[in-house]
Amino acid sequence: MRCNLSAIIIGITLLSFSASAQKNWNNKKCAVVLTYDDALNVHLDNVIPVLDSLGLKGTFYLSAYFPGSKNRLSDWKKAAANGHELGNHTLFHPCIGKSKGRSWVRKERDLDNYSMERLVEEIRMTNVFLQALDGKTKRTFAYPCGDMTVNDSSYVNNISNDFVSARGVEGRMSSINDANLFAIGSYMINGQSGEEMIKLVKEAIKNNSLLVFLFHGVGGEHDLNVSLPAHRQLLQFLKKHEHEIWITPFIEATEYMKKNQTINK
Ligand SMILES: [Zn+2]
Repeated sequence: MRCNLSAIIIGITLLSFSASAQKNWNNKKCAVVLTYDDALNVHLDNVIPVLDSLGLKGTFYLSAYFPGSKNRLSDWKKAAANGHELGNHTLFHPCIGKSKGRSWVRKERDLDNYSMERLVEEIRMTNVFLQALDGKTKRTFAYPCGDMTVNDSSYVNNISNDFVSARGVEGRMSSINDANLFAIGSYMINGQSGEEMIKLVKEAIKNNSLLVFLFHGVGGEHDLNVSLPAHRQLLQFLKKHEHEIWITPFIEATEYMKKNQTINK
């Protein structure tokens, strides 16, 4: 009898352990972060209204000098006051011009014509710009074009004290224990259907992962684009499954990972 009782107790313990291991993202099975790059007008005009109608929060990576940033300051202030994250995507969006498909990069915005000091100072100035909009001193970063080097030297360590975390463009999900918070993968969306994006979410639920979406145009304004119906379909699926999906800004998800790493050290 006693033997059976211990077996039952062990069984219950194991069951509750595996249940908690499967719900390790703020008590949900996975985390989904919606990021939108390059300060486009459609983010303010198309995306934020639909996010707000569903009570979801997104992360918007602004390059401060872009027209959609500097011409719409009060709209970004409003978005931040409403709980959306404003992230740093540099002042001028410099990229490596010699890489394939980069003929659009002007020489003044070519990372190979930058010094490390100039890049770091422009990034820090963008933090000041963002702080003027939302009052926050904690910030996350997204590498323009996914480039992490200036003249072949990595700039990651030069900015790591200025940020909580940073988003890259490598298409992969993260586990709660992923150590490198300065190279979090993301899925670049360009022309996918709602079903295709939902498939990624289902994979994240199954694997207890962090899934980061990377959007540019939503219903236009950029060559990399997703249709409004597909975007809406994804958001509606997320809302419907909110009981098992933690839909949260990038800063919240990565701070949670950081805290989890400290606890498990
Ligand atoms: Zn960008």
